[in-house]
Amino acid sequence: MESAVLLLGSNIGDKAANIHQAIQLIQKNIGKISQTSSMYESEPWGNQDQDSFYNQAVLLQIKETPEQLLAKCQAIELELGRDRKAAQKWAARTIDIDILIIGSKIINTPNLKVPHPELQNRNFALIPLMELLPEYEHPVLNKPIDELYFDSNDELEVLKLEI
Ligand code: AMP
Repeated sequence: MESAVLLLGSNIGDKAANIHQAIQLIQKNIGKISQTSSMYESEPWGNQDQDSFYNQAVLLQIKETPEQLLAKCQAIELELGRDRKAAQKWAARTIDIDILIIGSKIINTPNLKVPHPELQNRNFALIPLMELLPEYEHPVLNKPIDELYFDSNDELEVLKLEI
């Protein structure tokens, strides 16, 4: 068993409901979530001409291989209505599931990069991860998450929601 943190994001429809549905499917298809971060509202990254995102990170123990975990996350994205072919990069999406970390594993294959390669550049990933695992040290950059957040150049706002 390995601990993994997944970051959920949604910016169309009922964003909170989309994230709740993804959490239910993760618990059904992958495993029991031991901790969830607060829900955050994040300014859209990349393409500014779209609605804000809701983001929430979840911590769980996984028994599958990283590739199986990715496949299960992608199946949940599809089930919740994301049209991968039609989706442009940074386009609106019902649900996006990113694997932020898997224990201290370092994975660098064409399909899967862990820790997520943009983690250190995105406040909307760093902030919820810091909430779940404040002591976590990035296995490639060899720095704790709070230091990566301090070093990050991302200026987009990430607001904690009281829901
Ligand atoms: P996105 O459109 O941002 O959801 O990116 C999806 C693509 O990123 C998929 O083709 C995945 O194979 C790839 N990918 C690479 N590393 C990761 C990761 N850590 N978590 C999720 N997707 C990943």
